[in-house]
This record gives sequence, structure tokens and C-alpha cells, in this order.
Amino acid sequence: MDISLMPGDWLIFQKDMVLVKSKFPLILPKTEDTPLFADRLLSRGELSPARGGYLWGEYPPEEELPWGFEPVGLRELWGLGGDLLFQSAGTAFQFMDWQRTSRFCSRCGGPMVPGDEDRAFACEKCGYLSYPVITPAVIVAVTKEEKLLLARSFHFPKGRYSVLAGFVEPGESLEEAVRREILEEVSLKVKDVTYFGSQPWPFPHSLMLGFTARWEEGEITPDGKEIEDAGWYTPDTLPVMPPSNSISRQLINSWLKGTQDLRSPKNDGQ
Ligand SMILES: [Zn+2]
Repeated sequence: MDISLMPGDWLIFQKDMVLVKSKFPLILPKTEDTPLFADRLLSRGELSPARGGYLWGEYPPEEELPWGFEPVGLRELWGLGGDLLFQSAGTAFQFMDWQRTSRFCSRCGGPMVPGDEDRAFACEKCGYLSYPVITPAVIVAVTKEEKLLLARSFHFPKGRYSVLAGFVEPGESLEEAVRREILEEVSLKVKDVTYFGSQPWPFPHSLMLGFTARWEEGEITPDGKEIEDAGWYTPDTLPVMPPSNSISRQLINSWLKGTQDLRSPKNDGQ
């Protein structure tokens, strides 16, 4: 279900959770609820009109919630409220998280204040500027003929497999990050690294950059540190998959569609 807020409605966070008035049906705080929480907020802001124009705020982590409110995680909110709400809540969460981690200068320890220009906090003592953090990570669907590489990380829910992912390191291109991650995690060399699409991933501030690649050489050897198990899968042997709207699942679905097109009658004899 896709629910949408109205400009001026609230996304309130306590720690990493979103506060809602009800989960079933999903009801978020409205403008008329402002007296319940507004004077307690540690920070607040407003999303741009393009992001819905919603207000956001950070509720004190140790304080009891306003009566009738309950916390839900961002992933659960995604399931309850749909993509648009998840995108807005993820954006608000990243601004909130940036503000709560920018109260003091990471260079000299001085207090930070909102900067005059740009979207930045400035240090009152040394002038250091702190911008919102975005951490790029690559996520890759590697294929070998009709088969797709799927792997299991130690921290995945029981039974789940997905495409491989990893953070981009300083000094490398996205394509280099793809080749390094695949080599480090499963000892395979890949070629034809091709951009697929991207997805903001507010856990806490990643940007997932999706790629496809083709196997070049090597036998799958899980590293035993990040990756517990990995293998080549066909459409008929798929294990438990990631949630339906994640970019990992989009990559898998795109591969599935490609294999179906290959198998469809119109391709017979080609
Ligand atoms: Zn400073």
C-alpha cells in the first residue's frame, strides 16, 4: 500500500525508529499533533517540496514517547507505507542522523552551528564545514551463461541469498570497486561491468549503485569472513530472495526477465 503525507505532516525519529500513531492502518503524526512533541525536539527540519515538504524532528532518545505513539523501523515502515513514504522517511532520517552526529566539530571539538550558505554545519572555532554524509556502495549481479551468482552473508536472515555488495573505497572507481569486491568475496574475476541503476539506502547513509557483470574466470570460493556460502543459480533453483523493492531484488528480477525472454517461443531457433 502506498500512503502519502501532506506537506507540513511529520516524520519524528527516536534513535533510528520512526514514531507512528498506528501501524494498522498506518497513521503518522499530523500537524494537529504538534503540541504532543514539538517542544521536546532536539533538532528539526523540512524536506524540500520535491521530497514532499514534510517536517522532521529528532525526539530525545531516552524520553518516554508521547502517549499513543509507537516506534517502527524504516524497513518495517517501507512494508507498511510503500515506496514513496520510505523514500521521504529515508531522506528525513539521513538529515536527522547527520545533524545529531554534527553537534561538535570532528577536527577541533568546537560547537557546530548551521552554516550561512550551502547545506552544511560550520565550526564556530575553526570554520570546518560538515556536509551530509553519503556512502557509496556497489551491488552487482554477476552472470555465467544462464546462471546468476547469489551469496549468503553471515548477517542475512536465515536462508536468504542475494547478489554481492560492498562499500566503495577511497581512490577507486565504481567499476574497480565491483571487480575488487567480487574478487575479495568469492575469488572470481568479472568483465563487462555495466551500470544498472541506483537506490538511496538509509541504513544509515548509503547510496547503492547497481551493476551487472559477467564471469571471466575462477571458481567460487567464499571468503569465510563476509560470505558464508555462494553459488550459481538458475531460475528453477532460486533460494529465499531479498525484499521486493530493494535494488538487489530489481537486479535479480531483471536477470530473471532476461532468461525468460531467452526461453520464450519467439526466440526459438535463433
Ligand atoms: Zn572546529
